[in-house]
Amino acid sequence: MDIPPTLDASISTAHTVKSVLLLVNPISGKGDTRSKRKNLVRFIECCAANGITVTRVDTSRANHCYETLLTYPLELVDCVCVAGGDGTYRESVAGMLARTDKLVVPITVLPLGSGNNLARDCGINSYKDTLAKLREGRRKRVDALQVAHRDGTDVSVNVVTWGIGLAVGKTAETRLRWLGPLKYDVATLWHILWNLKRRARLFPRVDGKGNQVDMDFHLMLAQNTRRMGNGYLSCPSSQLDDGKMDLAVIPHLPRLSMLKLFMQLKGDGAHVLDKRVQYIQVDQLNLETEESEEVNIDGDRMVWTPITIDVLPNSWEVLV
Ligand SMILES: [Mg+2]
Repeated sequence: MDIPPTLDASISTAHTVKSVLLLVNPISGKGDTRSKRKNLVRFIECCAANGITVTRVDTSRANHCYETLLTYPLELVDCVCVAGGDGTYRESVAGMLARTDKLVVPITVLPLGSGNNLARDCGINSYKDTLAKLREGRRKRVDALQVAHRDGTDVSVNVVTWGIGLAVGKTAETRLRWLGPLKYDVATLWHILWNLKRRARLFPRVDGKGNQVDMDFHLMLAQNTRRMGNGYLSCPSSQLDDGKMDLAVIPHLPRLSMLKLFMQLKGDGAHVLDKRVQYIQVDQLNLETEESEEVNIDGDRMVWTPITIDVLPNSWEVLV
C-alpha cells in the first residue's frame, strides 16, 4: 500500500549523505526472514552503488541501539539508518536524545519491523524509499514524546497505549506473533469479546489548561504518528511536527459498539468521528489508575502508571 508522508518536505534543510551508520535489528518483525535479509543486502549494495559508505552494527540485545547512539562518534556519519520497526526506531531516538554532547544527525529507517508506522508517516515503505531519502538528503526536525512513569522516563516516537490497545499489543506480540500480520486482528477480536472495564483518571492539557476525567475506559492512545499496530489509522490527523500529541480516548462501550469502532479503525480511521470517541490534540497528559497498571510504548516497551506525557517539540531529525 502506498501511503503518503505527513511531513511538508518543502520545509527542510539540504544535507549531503555520504556516510551512514546502519543499525540492524535482526529479530524485528517476524524474525530473520529471507525477504528481510534480501532487502537488507540490496539496500547495502544500492548504497555502495550510490557512493554512500555504510558502517553496519547488528544489535544483539535490548537497548543495544540506545547504547550505541548514546556514545557513537556521530561526527563520523551524515545519517543514522535503523533497520527494524517502531521499537528499534524508538530506542535509537532515545539514545540520540540522551547524548551529553547534544549532537543530532538525521535518523531514517529501513522498514523491517511488523508495524513500521513511523516509517509510513515519513513516506518510507521499502528499501528503495529509504535509498531515495538518503540520495535526496532533506533533513527535517520532528517531535518526540517523553513519558515520565513510576520508574523513570522513556521516549516514544509512535504510540503510548493503555487499555484494550495495550492488551491487544501484548497478546499479539507474545502469543500470536506466529500469525504475522493477522496477529493484531485476532488479538483485538479476543479482547473486544472479553470487554473488560478499566477505571482511570485522565488529565489532558494544552498550555497547562484542561479538564480531568474520571471514568471507565476501553482505550487511550497518545501518539505522534497516524498509525499504530499493523498500520491501523488510529489518529488520522496526527502530524510529526505540530508540537502536539494526538489523544484518542474510547470510554467503556458495549461489545457491538466496540466491534464497529474497530472496523472503522481498521478501515479509514472514521472511529474518530464517533461522538463517543474523544479525539483531541494536546501537549501534556496525565494518566492515573487506582492500582499501578501497564502502559505500552511503541509496541515493545512496558512501563507502569501513573504516567505524564510531554511533547518534546523539534527534538530530533528525519529525512523527508
Ligand atoms: Mg504531533
